[in-house]
Amino acid sequence: MPGLADEFHRPLDAAARLAREWLDAVPERRIAPTVGIDAVKDALGRELADEGLDATAVVEALSAAVEPGLIAMQSPRFFGWVIGGTAPAPLAADWLVTSWDQNAALREVTPGVNAAEELAAEWICDLLGLPGGTVAGFTTGATTANLVALAAARHAVLERVGWDDAVDGIQGAPRIRVFAGDEHHPSVDVALRWLGLGRPIDVASDDQGRILPSALAAALGESRAGGGGGDGADGGDGPAIVCLQAGNIHSGASDPFEECVAIAHEAGAWVHVDGAFGLWAAASGRLRHLVAGVDQADSWATDAHKTLNVPYDAGIVAVADPAPLVAAMTMHAAYLPAAETGVDASDRVLELSRRARGVPTYAALRTLGRSGVAALVDGLAASATAIADGLRGLDGVEVLNDVVFTQVCAAFAGRDVAAIARALDDDGIALAHPSTWRGRDVLRFSVSNRGTDAAAVDATIDAVRRVLAG
Ligand SMILES: *Cc1c(COP(=O)(O)O)cnc(C)c1O
Repeated sequence: MPGLADEFHRPLDAAARLAREWLDAVPERRIAPTVGIDAVKDALGRELADEGLDATAVVEALSAAVEPGLIAMQSPRFFGWVIGGTAPAPLAADWLVTSWDQNAALREVTPGVNAAEELAAEWICDLLGLPGGTVAGFTTGATTANLVALAAARHAVLERVGWDDAVDGIQGAPRIRVFAGDEHHPSVDVALRWLGLGRPIDVASDDQGRILPSALAAALGESRAGGGGGDGADGGDGPAIVCLQAGNIHSGASDPFEECVAIAHEAGAWVHVDGAFGLWAAASGRLRHLVAGVDQADSWATDAHKTLNVPYDAGIVAVADPAPLVAAMTMHAAYLPAAETGVDASDRVLELSRRARGVPTYAALRTLGRSGVAALVDGLAASATAIADGLRGLDGVEVLNDVVFTQVCAAFAGRDVAAIARALDDDGIALAHPSTWRGRDVLRFSVSNRGTDAAAVDATIDAVRRVLAG
């Protein structure tokens, strides 16, 4: 039997070689997969054989079977959803995290990876201009970051009215009124659903999808008068949570935080901000004005796997007051002693056993530095502006949003947008997804990849021109 170390060499070398081949091919590869899921299953082998296979053979066969079904999400001309590329250092750090095999739950048990994660969390709070004392943790994505933050919110607003959800649950608890802009992301809905808080009350937004402060003030006042929660007779406003957004997925616009946070706090509400990609505007001196006042909120959710170009599994939750976060998340037992100082990772996020998923973010931040992060964010926004300019130059194309950040929404007079998206897919050079926004069929160009340079923008506009002419 080979030594433990030797046993790893061949499969890891194979994986490194195959990863290099993939990464080399991505920029020029057709973006869409060439086969569907059934063909990939056939290639993988549908039956679990009785006999196992050699590790290296499995790695090689896995790559060969899956590769035709891969979509080139890291392509500099992939503009679907909000999908970041992967930078070299965080990718390599991700491999190390897996190799080290640390369970990152407790800071004193796995100090190596917890040190890197805690620094990365502190740096992010600093870059995003969040208040001193804010505690951040690493989640799988912004969806779970929203969940964790809103669990802290739920605990805090109930505690203020003398109810402890950690002990008594939420059945029979005072009703919590939850508000969100009518263009909030569906991950906020799912987080609220998991927490038993139901659908939020939608608040009207303007033509860029930004919450209207007057509508928020009216909604907070009306729902109180309507007797939804506290009846106002005691002068209390009842528990309330307001969900704001940094970065609308159609327009890139952010809610007017300065006004909205003040209105919400005036009404005694907790303010949570879903800033999956848009919060990163705060890291740029040129774009920070887009999220002015966001630091006044109580909690934030964001992603490193979008704007920061870290591999997936890199969400971030941040809460200004760690007490309700810890109350909502804490998990300890005689065999899981709490840290003597600091806040354990298991007290910041959902998981107990967890990979050190924050380490790749440390590597990304360390490679970029403060100015590199700002340049990355500025570069994405500049590419979005260039795409919008290029699209406006094409016959019959209208850009519907004010392109202030990284999102571009294009409408095509009298044409079938889904057909345009399919033709673009077949053309293979660029990918954008159809959507509907404010009653119009649109094609969304979402710029989140560090590799989207002037050449990528030109090739994209050429592809759209070809498709429209074809
Ligand atoms: C992507 C996104 C989310 C969800 O983030 P995941 O990392 O995919 O869980 C939430 N809100 C907004 C605005 C987003 O763009």
